[in-house]
Amino acid sequence: GRQGWPERAGGLGGSPLRRGVVVEELTKFGCPPPFAASLVEVLGPAVLEFGSAELVEQYYPRLLDGTDVWCQGFSEPEAGSDLGALRTRAIDDGDTWRVTGQKIWTSYAGSAQRCLLLARTGSVEEGFKGISALLLDMDTPGIEVRPLRAMTGDDEFAELFLDDVRVPKDRTLGAVGAGAAVTMNVLANERSVLAWQRQAWLQSRLSAVVAEMVPVGEQDDHTIGAAYTAVHALRLRVRETFDTIASGDSAGPLTSVDKILLSTAEKAVFDAAMKLDPELLLLGDGPSAERWQYDHTYARASSIYGGTAEIQRNIVAERILGLPREK
Ligand SMILES: Cc1cc2nc3c(=O)[nH]c(=O)nc-3n(C[C@H](O)[C@H](O)[C@H](O)COP(=O)(O)OP(=O)(O)OC[C@H]3O[C@@H](n4cnc5c(N)ncnc54)[C@H](O)[C@@H]3O)c2cc1C
Repeated sequence: GRQGWPERAGGLGGSPLRRGVVVEELTKFGCPPPFAASLVEVLGPAVLEFGSAELVEQYYPRLLDGTDVWCQGFSEPEAGSDLGALRTRAIDDGDTWRVTGQKIWTSYAGSAQRCLLLARTGSVEEGFKGISALLLDMDTPGIEVRPLRAMTGDDEFAELFLDDVRVPKDRTLGAVGAGAAVTMNVLANERSVLAWQRQAWLQSRLSAVVAEMVPVGEQDDHTIGAAYTAVHALRLRVRETFDTIASGDSAGPLTSVDKILLSTAEKAVFDAAMKLDPELLLLGDGPSAERWQYDHTYARASSIYGGTAEIQRNIVAERILGLPREK
């Protein structure tokens, strides 16, 4: 996991493209990195860009070698798509922030050692300009994690309650009030590099559809063909994003296209499995059936996490196509 990360962060150096190659090769040989490990790609680059040298030196090597799991404390009960409305407050108390509020849908909060948390350091009227990004240690007093069960049966995510949690000021990422820039960095990676990892895995799951299920007639062939096209469209698009990142540029709003292609491809692969073998996916027992059932159910989340499909389409319309902004 250290290939393609800078040496100052405990990595082995080299182009970020190496990270994509390693993931794809591991997946090809049946060892896809666990989804939790993808948080390295989602949160890591923001800490590299906005964290102090000391913060990177202290925390990064433990993230890269898998010692620490990180989680992403963005969404709140009243602030998901509209993160600018978030209400978790960080009150200035000399050398520390005192943080109080609630987060929701925080993936891996139950096992994480650190959390990249968005909190309001300014006023509500300031919207996103009053929000800062803090790197929080999950064993700080005042944090309570309550697991949430998803429809897959897993409690991957949780509610996070924060009651007067003290965070040293030197754990602020970027300037106070610069939470928007950190958020954009995180979301761009969540919508693209994570999509690369997912496409590698989707290729292997689509191969399993072909190997394990028997197509009946032309309609089924067409379904498999459409899923194949969706996965490869995703692959080609994210490959370009990787080139952008490798050249040192930020990936920007185009990553919303990557995210739309990801949710389209993920649903296409598992809907194809459902169409070809509904009995297995709906009623089957045993590890293989349970895996298909889990993956088919989880695919529903692909158009929600990292920003919903509707939000991505708004971004494409307004920021790429230049259509009028929604009132
Ligand atoms: C598996 C999974 C893991 C997640 N992990 C994390 C995590 O680790 N950390 C974290 O912070 N969050 C996480 N989330 C939460 C996720 O980011 C939010 O669910 C998502 O951003 C949507 O926010 P919301 O649920 O509040 O829905 P809302 O924002 O309330 O949206 C509800 C519906 O309204 C639509 N909508 C809202 N605004 C608009 C608009 N302007 N135009 C058109 N349609 C609109 C949405 O598309 C959606 O269909 C996770 C979610 C899932 C499913």
